[in-house]
Amino acid sequence: MSNVRQFCIGQLEQIISLKPGMRLALAIRHNEPSWLQLAVNMLTRRTVFELDEDVVSILPYEAYRIIAKMHAKIMADRLTLVLLPPPTIHTGECIAGPYAQTKRCEKAWETIWKINMGERMLHPNMLARYTLDEAKEYWMGLNIEPMSTGCPELSKDNIRDSAIWGAETETIRKVIEKLEEITRQHVVGMEEEQPTTQDEPASGEM
Ligand SMILES: [Zn+2]
Repeated sequence: MSNVRQFCIGQLEQIISLKPGMRLALAIRHNEPSWLQLAVNMLTRRTVFELDEDVVSILPYEAYRIIAKMHAKIMADRLTLVLLPPPTIHTGECIAGPYAQTKRCEKAWETIWKINMGERMLHPNMLARYTLDEAKEYWMGLNIEPMSTGCPELSKDNIRDSAIWGAETETIRKVIEKLEEITRQHVVGMEEEQPTTQDEPASGEM
């Protein structure tokens, strides 16, 4: 990176608390991968409706489409995760007990999951929303008292290493990959726009 370029980027960082949409647009236009990652992470907590018109107008359409799709996917995955709680794993004692006991145990796990994880993973204030890592940490530490003894631990162990917690990171990783590709195309496009003297006879008439 040239010193001038580095200087300009440093100055920009200081003068503007760059809005994520603008950061993304600049990252693509000026091929700045470090900003791409930061912008996408920030954009996971904002909807495309919140992007200012001046940002949308300079953002390549394909990038806008990818960001919009990322939101839709993240929200759909979160809704599914909240409304379809992971299975309950019961101890032998819980299963051997009356049917109503197992049922109550399961109901407690599912209800507490839906209310508590719903609040945190679908919070209307995007900035208050938990990341999946935060949600996992919260759930693993939560006391689910109405369940039968031993069942919360078994049920938690069952999802401790589950892919559900990493799904969003994977979505974001793919989005960044696509945006990097768009950035590369954009840079190539700009280079191709540069006037060349090879194919056309040099002329001073313009
Ligand atoms: Zn149980």
